[in-house]
Amino acid sequence: MRDLMKIKLKSVLDRFIKLLFPECCALCGEPVESYRECAFCSTCLVKWQLEKNACRDREAGLPVRGFIDDESSKERGESSGERFGQVVYLSDYRPGDPDNVARALIHKLKRHATKTLVDFIAGEYRELLLQAAPMLFDGTVAPGEVIVTWIPRRDRAVIEIGYDHMELCAKRLAELSGFECRRLISRTGEALEQKKLGARDRMLNAERSMASAAAGLDGKYVVLIDDLVTTGASMKVGERLISDAGAEMVICAALASD
Ligand SMILES: [Zn+2]
Repeated sequence: MRDLMKIKLKSVLDRFIKLLFPECCALCGEPVESYRECAFCSTCLVKWQLEKNACRDREAGLPVRGFIDDESSKERGESSGERFGQVVYLSDYRPGDPDNVARALIHKLKRHATKTLVDFIAGEYRELLLQAAPMLFDGTVAPGEVIVTWIPRRDRAVIEIGYDHMELCAKRLAELSGFECRRLISRTGEALEQKKLGARDRMLNAERSMASAAAGLDGKYVVLIDDLVTTGASMKVGERLISDAGAEMVICAALASD
């Protein structure tokens, strides 16, 4: 009885807080209608749908699969699309375009994440995986064999902002899907900010700053998520670390690619 009272009180309190501080649209900043559990107002939600549709494979109607490729892997004679190097993503990231929804979404997630926003984005990753990796959901793979993990943010950024946005998304995605969430990659030393580096240095920086935090992943299917894929250096290094720990398959998914 007391538990029921607590739950009721919490839901009343939640509603009250929502009235006082309504969720704001991640794109235009307008308050989102209070009955919606969404990151966007209805106008911007349509924009997001259009942006995702524009990014799809026209013939198959499926999410686009990009190949991770960069200068340093070419020099080493590795070819993308074999053991490493595929990532599915939802939309295109255009840094200079104020109407680009992916840009606004990632910016808000990194700086001002709310529960609604994380729920929304986790739902988007789930949709993407349902289409790109249906075997995780249709019983082909047992849910107990699937681990959701993420590319961790640099330590300095976590201290500054107070959270790792990809960790929040990975946890929620795992919850929504009935999978386990586990940190499989750790940061070592002080990484440089990837966006300030060229393709070759990105790869070196990723290799220097990421390490495996897991062993014994034999037979596991690992979903590795990140927000934005540019050269794919972080994804590639992450994928390699997880594969080397014995994973059966690594599925890389991102919100956007630029
Ligand atoms: Zn809006």
